[in-house]
Amino acid sequence: MFNVNAALLLLAISLGAEPVSADFVLKNGTLFDGSGRPGVVGDAAIKGERIVAVGNFTVAGNPKTIDCTGLFIAPGFIDLHTHSDEPLLHPETRANLNYLRQGVTTVVTGNCGLGPTNVAVYFEELRNGGVGSNVIHLIPHNNLKAQVMGNVSRLPTAKEMAEMERLIDKGMNDGAWGISTGLIYNPGTYSKTEEIIALAKVVAKHGGIYASHIRGEGSTVLDSIEEALRIGREAGLPVHISHLKASGRSVWNGKAAEAVGLIKQARASGQAVTADQYPYIASSTSLRATVVPPRFREGSQEDFVARISNKETGPKLRKAIEEHLQQNQNGADLRIARYQRRPEWQGKDLVTIAEMEAKTPLDIVLEIEKNGGAQIVHFSMSEDDVRLIMKQDFVATASDGSAMVPSSTVPHPRGYGCFACKIGRYSIEDRALPVEQAIRSASGLPADILKLPERGYLRPTFFADIVVFDPKTYRDTATYDRPHQYANGVKWLFINGKCVIENGADKSPLAGRVLKHREK
Ligand SMILES: [Zn+2]
Repeated sequence: MFNVNAALLLLAISLGAEPVSADFVLKNGTLFDGSGRPGVVGDAAIKGERIVAVGNFTVAGNPKTIDCTGLFIAPGFIDLHTHSDEPLLHPETRANLNYLRQGVTTVVTGNCGLGPTNVAVYFEELRNGGVGSNVIHLIPHNNLKAQVMGNVSRLPTAKEMAEMERLIDKGMNDGAWGISTGLIYNPGTYSKTEEIIALAKVVAKHGGIYASHIRGEGSTVLDSIEEALRIGREAGLPVHISHLKASGRSVWNGKAAEAVGLIKQARASGQAVTADQYPYIASSTSLRATVVPPRFREGSQEDFVARISNKETGPKLRKAIEEHLQQNQNGADLRIARYQRRPEWQGKDLVTIAEMEAKTPLDIVLEIEKNGGAQIVHFSMSEDDVRLIMKQDFVATASDGSAMVPSSTVPHPRGYGCFACKIGRYSIEDRALPVEQAIRSASGLPADILKLPERGYLRPTFFADIVVFDPKTYRDTATYDRPHQYANGVKWLFINGKCVIENGADKSPLAGRVLKHREK
C-alpha cells in the first residue's frame, strides 16, 4: 500500500507555508478525492508523474496553471471490467480514446475468463506498442482451460490440474492481479466448483482476487453468487462479482434485491466481496452464449454445425433455442451488434430481421450460428434493478466494453459512455446517487478492490492520474442506435503526470503503463 507517513508529511508541507514545486497546478476546482467524501473547492498540483499537493497551498516557480473554476477534479477512473485485451495491441485502437474521453486512466483486461494467458508476453506486447491508458490484467480461466484441456465437458485429469495450476502460478509471478472466470462460456461452463477452488488457491497464495462472470445471471443468480462466495471462502481470497444484474424478464420481480441482500450478508459476516456494474438495461455477449445451452456447445464449430443437422440432436437444439427466444420476446429483446456476413442486420432485432427475410427468428439464429455466430445487444434488465444495484456502496462502475474506433458495427454503447452515463446522467442530472459516491465507484473503490497501490485517490505522492470534467456537460452521447459517439465534458486528463486531454482536445501520447501486481 502507499506510504501513509510520506503522504501525511507531504500533505502537511502542502498545507504549510512551504511553497510547492510543480509542473501543473489545477486551480480552484471542486476536489473529489475518491473516498466518497463530498467535494471541496481547492487546487491540485502535479510534478513529474506524481501528485504533489491537494487542497490549499502556495506554489513555487512558474508552473502551468489551469483554471478549474466550476469544474470537478477527480482521480482518473479505473475500469475493472473491459474486453480490450486484443484492441489495445492494435495500432488503430491502442490509444483507447473511447475510454480516455470518459476520463478513464486505467483498464482491467482478462475478464469473463477471456483473454491472453501468457501474461509476460501480453505485457511485453503492450509495452512495445505503447498504450493509451494503464492496463491491469487478470488470468482468464476459459482460455487457460482451453489451452490445457480443449473445449471438452469432463473433469480435468490430475496432470491437467497440475498444468493449470502451474500456468496460474507463472501468470501471477508475471504480474497478473488475480483470476477471472466466465462460467457461461466454454469451456469454463463445464468446470465444477472444486476445480475453480483449487485454481483460486494458487491465486490466493499471491494475494490476488477472484473475479467472476457467474454461472447464471437469471433464475439461478442466487445459487451462482453462493458458488462465488464459496470459492472465495474455501480458496481464501476476495470475491468480485462482475456486471451484477438480474437478467431476464422472469426475474424482474425482486431477484436483484435478493442478490444485493446476499452480498450484503456475506460482507456483514466479514467476507471480502464486491461487485461491478455498467449502468444500462441491456447486456452484450455472443448470440450463442445467450440462446444455446452449454450441453450443445462442446467441441469445434464443425461439431456444432453437425449437431444442428443431426437427426437426434438437431430437434433438441432447435427446441432449446426456441425456448430461449420465447423468454426474450421471441427475439425482439436480442439485437445484432456485429455480424460481418450480413452487415445490414447489425442494429436490428431478431424479429425485425425475420420479417425482413420472411423467415422465423429461429431460422435467423441457425443461419448465424452455422456461419460462426454473432455479437448481440440483449435487453435483459429492468431500470429499477439497474438503479438499485448502482446505489450500493460495494458496486464499482465498470463498462464491460472494449477499446474501439467508429465503424459500421452497432455495439453496446457502454464502451463509449459507461462512466459519463453513471456519473453525468444518473448522478449529476438524475440524482440517483450522490456524485461523490458515483465518483468513488469509479476510482477509490475499484483501486481498493484490486488493492492497487498509489492510484484511485487524489492524494499527494500518488501517481498523477487525474480527470477534470465539467459537471454541466459531462454526459454520454452513445446510444443503442448510434453507439460510436464519444462522451462529452472531459476538459483535462492526466495519466502518469502526462497531459493526454488538453482543454477538451485529445493529445493521445500513449501515456499508459502496464501495471504489474506485486505481492506485498
Ligand atoms: Zn461477462
